[in-house]
Amino acid sequence: MTEILPGVHAIDGIDPSPDFTTNVLLLKDAKGSSWTLLDTGLPPQEGYAGGAALVERYCEKNKIPLSSIKRILLTHLHLDHTGSLKTLAQKTGAKIYSHWIEASFIAKDPPYTGPGMPPREAVEVHEKLKDGDSVEAFEGLVTYHTPGHTPGHVSYYCPSRKILFAGDAVFNVNGVVVVSLKEYSFSEPLANISVRRLATLDVESLVQYHGAPVLKGARQGIQSAAKKA
Ligand SMILES: [Zn+2]
Repeated sequence: MTEILPGVHAIDGIDPSPDFTTNVLLLKDAKGSSWTLLDTGLPPQEGYAGGAALVERYCEKNKIPLSSIKRILLTHLHLDHTGSLKTLAQKTGAKIYSHWIEASFIAKDPPYTGPGMPPREAVEVHEKLKDGDSVEAFEGLVTYHTPGHTPGHVSYYCPSRKILFAGDAVFNVNGVVVVSLKEYSFSEPLANISVRRLATLDVESLVQYHGAPVLKGARQGIQSAAKKA
C-alpha cells in the first residue's frame, strides 16, 4: 500500500515505463467510508495491464470494495488520464467529474485535435465543473480552472490540508517543478498564467500527475516555476 499522505493513496505500478512516473490517486473521503479516484491511467497495451486492472489490483489488496469508489475526478482529457475511465466507471458505478469544456472533448463531441493523446473512447461526464466549484470529496476540494495544458484543465485544491492536486498544470522534472511541457500543451501563455495563479495558493503538498510528489514546502517550487513563466 502506498499512502503518500494520510488518506492519499498512489496506485502501485501505474507507470507503463519506469522512467514515466504517473500518479493515479485514490482519496479517502472524510465523510463516510467512500473513496474518490483522481484520473485513471492509460488503457491496456502490450506489456502493460492498464490503469483499470492496476486500480482493481490495488483495491483488492487493500480491501477497498470497487463499489466504494463513488466519484472519478478528472484533471483533463489526455489519454493517460482518461484511458481507463470507461472501464473504471463501469466497474465502480462512480460519478464522473471534469471541467465543462473538457467534458465535451471526453465525450468526443467535438473530438480533441490539440497536442497530446486524445481520448480513445467517448465517455459521458456526469458533473460538469466550473472554476470555484466545491467538490465533496476527500477532505473538501475546490476546483481551479487552470487552462493551458488543455483548454479545460482543472486542478483540485484541498484548503484544510493545503494539498494541491495539479494534474499536468505542472510537472516535476528531476526534482524541479516546471510549467506543463510546451510540446504537450494547447497554449503556453495560458499554461504560464495558470501556474502564476496556483503560486498564490497556500500549498504545503503538491501532487501533480507526472514526477514525484512534493510532500512538504511545495509552495516555493510552484512560485519559482511561476517566476520563470
Ligand atoms: Zn496531459
